[in-house]
Amino acid sequence: MNPQTSPETAVKSQTPEGLETGGDLHLAERCRTRLSPALQALLHTAARTADTHRVRVFAVGGFVRDLLLGVRDEDLDLTVEGDGVAFARHFAAATDGSCKEPSAFGTVVVIARDGHKIDVATARRETYKHPAALPTVEPGTIRDDLFRRDFSINTMALALNGPEAFTLLDWYGGHADLAEGVIRVLHNRSFRDDPTRIFRAVRLEQRFGFILHRHTLRLLQRAVDKRWIELLSGARLWRELRLMLEGGAPVACLRRLDELGILPHIDADLALSPDRRELLTRVAEARVELVETHADVLGRAWPVYLAALFHGFDVEVIRRISARLTLSPRTTQELINGLSVTEKACHRLRQEHTIPPSGVAAALRTLPLEMLPLLLALCPGGEVHRQVERYLTTWRHIRPDLTGNDLKRLGVPQGPSIGRVLARLLAAKLDGEVTNREAEEALVRSALLQMQSS
Ligand code: ATP
Ligand code: MG
Repeated sequence: MNPQTSPETAVKSQTPEGLETGGDLHLAERCRTRLSPALQALLHTAARTADTHRVRVFAVGGFVRDLLLGVRDEDLDLTVEGDGVAFARHFAAATDGSCKEPSAFGTVVVIARDGHKIDVATARRETYKHPAALPTVEPGTIRDDLFRRDFSINTMALALNGPEAFTLLDWYGGHADLAEGVIRVLHNRSFRDDPTRIFRAVRLEQRFGFILHRHTLRLLQRAVDKRWIELLSGARLWRELRLMLEGGAPVACLRRLDELGILPHIDADLALSPDRRELLTRVAEARVELVETHADVLGRAWPVYLAALFHGFDVEVIRRISARLTLSPRTTQELINGLSVTEKACHRLRQEHTIPPSGVAAALRTLPLEMLPLLLALCPGGEVHRQVERYLTTWRHIRPDLTGNDLKRLGVPQGPSIGRVLARLLAAKLDGEVTNREAEEALVRSALLQMQSS
């Protein structure tokens, strides 16, 4: 490891006074009041298992950060000083749960009987051979393990067993930075070692309303200028972007990425124009509105934000960006289709002032519902909103009273005619032209007469 970036030097330079010992904050009471009983029971089981097998176990990272922030977080990451894989197996047995095979880095996912997923890792140190390389890993102490992490606020651990049980371990100033709302890397090579941290920094900053520490911001800007983002694999890049788009502040994150000049390093066409910024904001607003009333239809968040980013681009550009993000050809095609259906629906709904319900339903029927926020963003105005609302609550559930079998019985020939007549029945019912079964049958008979005479 580079001597400038060893845990020892980082502690001295970054730990504010009063927190050097790291052992002065006792969190047992906080765990009792803030964690669910199930999670508390898991922490105790982990502690007893560690005692029995004579290893030290710690809750680490986002879990500790969120515990201090008072944010509810059921994700638990455990780090073991000793054999983490063996510990994970004993822990899984003690919780009546199961565990998966270790990952390439020796992390084991334990699934407790109550469904909780717990990541168990062996404490390790990491070194990076070149920018954006995957790290070389060797076993280490908890302090080494915390030093390999991205930002100080993620470097705190809660000892679960031994004499320090339930005290906060904070060697890198995490508690003070959390109190100040600051995102800070642990050493100057952090973004070079792992440029995904550029995206993680922005995500955490926007999610908690924190700010990037001045020096960290300078390092981030240097990493961007050095084009280290371009060295990232598409899969790693997409993982981070997707987490942003699925998180609580997707548009704020995209705006910040743009402001920091990061988006063009993903693709030259991705810089945000004022119009696109506005569109993204409207998509987010429409999503919030729809989540309140129709959460069931909305599905995933990332496709609609990606579609909003791609709106107006040539298909080749969309394909190029999707390829950079290693999206599958199928996902790419679904995005292209979703975007095109949305644009057409918008065009149609806007053009006709007094479009009947059947026209609205026809425009929206082929639209993937997760694209609705984009439709509303592209077609602002009360009328389209009202039509979409009626479609969601009423029109999309309406079916003709008669079925395909009824039509056959009435003499409609098998084949495409059945579908055509059913579509006419549906349109008539939506527009209030038929209101019962008899009226539908009369409409079928007149359709038959027309078919026979033409
Ligand atoms: P979230 O609440 O979004 O899950 P998190 O901090 O728990 O936030 P994870 O992606 O679950 O984030 O990662 C767990 C922990 O692993 C982090 O708290 C951090 O300490 C560490 N970590 C994750 N990614 C990196 C990275 N690229 N570089 C260094 N440390 C990382
Ligand atoms: Mg997490």
